[in-house]
Amino acid sequence: MQTQGHYVLNLVLLGKTIAPKHNIAITIGAILPDIPIFVFYLISKYMYNMSEAKIWGEAYYQPGWQNIIATSHSIPIALIGFLVCWLLDWKWGAILCVSMVFHCLLDLPVHHDDAHRHFYPFSDYRFYSPVSYWDINHHARIAGGVEAALVLIASPIVMGLLKTPYTKGILIVIDVVYILLYGWMLGINVLNLKSLKTWGLILLALVTPLIIFASTSKEQSLKKFQYYKMTLWNKLSNNKLR
Ligand SMILES: [Zn+2]
Repeated sequence: MQTQGHYVLNLVLLGKTIAPKHNIAITIGAILPDIPIFVFYLISKYMYNMSEAKIWGEAYYQPGWQNIIATSHSIPIALIGFLVCWLLDWKWGAILCVSMVFHCLLDLPVHHDDAHRHFYPFSDYRFYSPVSYWDINHHARIAGGVEAALVLIASPIVMGLLKTPYTKGILIVIDVVYILLYGWMLGINVLNLKSLKTWGLILLALVTPLIIFASTSKEQSLKKFQYYKMTLWNKLSNNKLR
């Protein structure tokens, strides 16, 4: 799954259930497993000037990096971390570890060639799923669509959990990027303004944030509407009486 998707879905799965006031722990746990992959990419690209093909086709499979990535994607290591935090009565750390486990469980069914060793270091087993979230040769058009849809559906709920305009803004950016990336996966070029599909995609990217905001503040909007209706009604009826 895309890293930002983990952030959104983990917030819904944990923030709405066992850890409503621990957004930061959930966020770090959701992102942490993929951090080694970002570091690997930046080093390969900017320190060693490798091509994209070499980075993902060769360097990514070097045992050193593979072991680091397997460690951060290890379900047993995250569970041991959870147990230690639980015994130390450190709730924040425990939630972070649960969030890491959720990251692994969401990655498990959507990685094909790049399947992680989720049971490392106890086992080198990789589950080569028939489905990939990014590889269109392995049903990514469906899997990527389902992933994007889940993130978009979860967004109004996540919006309710976020406190600052800054984090809410990031969520909107995540949603818009999901829509554009999925369009790209379907072969829609955002720069080709002659295509009707491009305009459909742009329209969707513009309307989605509005829908998310409207559905988040539905209650507030309704209250405001009631208030204005009442005030107007009072004014009208007062005028009539006079
Ligand atoms: Zn991952």
